[in-house]
Amino acid sequence: MKKLGIFAAALAALCLATTAASAQKLYWAASGQFGPFNIQGLIPTYPEARDIKIPINMWIIDHPLGLVVFDTGNNVAISDGNCTSHWSQGSCDFLKPSQTRDDVIDRYLERLGYSVDQVKVVITSHSHLDHIANIEMFPNAIHALQKKEIYQAWWPEKFQRPSGAHIMADYDDARDFNYLMLEGDYDLFGDGAIQIISTPGHTLGHQSVKVKLPNTGTVLLSQDAIWMEENLEGHPAGLNYSVLDYFKSVDRLTMMRDLENAPLWFGHSIKQYESMGEKWYD
Ligand SMILES: [Zn+2]
Ligand SMILES: [Zn+2]
Repeated sequence: MKKLGIFAAALAALCLATTAASAQKLYWAASGQFGPFNIQGLIPTYPEARDIKIPINMWIIDHPLGLVVFDTGNNVAISDGNCTSHWSQGSCDFLKPSQTRDDVIDRYLERLGYSVDQVKVVITSHSHLDHIANIEMFPNAIHALQKKEIYQAWWPEKFQRPSGAHIMADYDDARDFNYLMLEGDYDLFGDGAIQIISTPGHTLGHQSVKVKLPNTGTVLLSQDAIWMEENLEGHPAGLNYSVLDYFKSVDRLTMMRDLENAPLWFGHSIKQYESMGEKWYD
């Protein structure tokens, strides 16, 4: 009986430890899709021309200490075919966004039983138009970005500007929000459950997120540090701030994957999204 008591106490302690060190659940959402377009438009060295579509992944993470959103997708203004009201004609013609109003992050939160005001932290991977663009819906949240990325957002390198990937109107009213300005990795709630991982290269201050879940285990949300499977075949993404840093970040994430036996969930893989998106992981 005494043994059983000790066992029960140990089990309870273990459960407590598990609860304390993991997020409760993670939802895989998407701010619509882009395409179809030739994969070589995104990955210039890819050896064969092929039309693809890509999802615009966003993530909702429920943690005992607060609700977290990782990336806020495309601006609400481009929903339902109104692309040129907010993006250039060139971006609309190339990207062909399919976002409907229901694909926007606020509607996702509502459908999942939350409100926008409940979001405690918004983590933004980087300042491109398909990741930062609804940051202004969260004036009361803490916003976690790399300090360099905030600088990049306000003054992108001239060579990156013609792509139209930064849209100042996505974040110009968010300047006085509360920013957790990071310079490297950060353990969001201090328990290892949601870790921000610095993965520069795609942009000056890109960051990814590692999430520990009670049943699913550890997953790596790369966002644009690795767009899709094809990038792991040695073909770098186009539009890099630094190809050298890009490859270092790919190495970092793939080694983490191998060391921690943690799957990589990419920023824009249609294969993954179609088989794994639009559901909770606990
Ligand atoms: Zn990007
Ligand atoms: Zn992207």
